[in-house]
Amino acid sequence: MKKLKNGLTYKNEKIYLNKYLLKKMNISKDKMRKLLILHKKRIDIFEEIRFTKDKEKLKRLGKYVDLVDIKLQKTWGFKIDFRLLSWWVRTPKCTCSIKKNSKLQNLYFLDKEEEITSLKEVKNFRDIKINCPIHGM
Ligand SMILES: [Zn+2]
Repeated sequence: MKKLKNGLTYKNEKIYLNKYLLKKMNISKDKMRKLLILHKKRIDIFEEIRFTKDKEKLKRLGKYVDLVDIKLQKTWGFKIDFRLLSWWVRTPKCTCSIKKNSKLQNLYFLDKEEEITSLKEVKNFRDIKINCPIHGM
């Protein structure tokens, strides 16, 4: 039987699924396939963001990044928690600080309160630059 690889390259970007996590979370081949498809979707959205100058569209695409990330969280078998999403701040054209937001996430890990399960709520827990074309005003 052909073994499914845990990584691939799509549109010049390497997708790599953590082998340790795959084992730990008991991820089936079907789920692995789904995870890779979701990453491809994310890369497609990133590409669209790079090519558009439409302000409204950028904001909309930014929300799609979060939705794909939530689907990733679900498929991995993690509890849904918007505070633990990580792709939004790695979106092209985003000017929010990865460093500051990683710090916020680490603090959250240490002192975990209730999970945030809506996109609206999570905004209060992100360090967003007002002039970010994706997440700002
Ligand atoms: Zn941003």
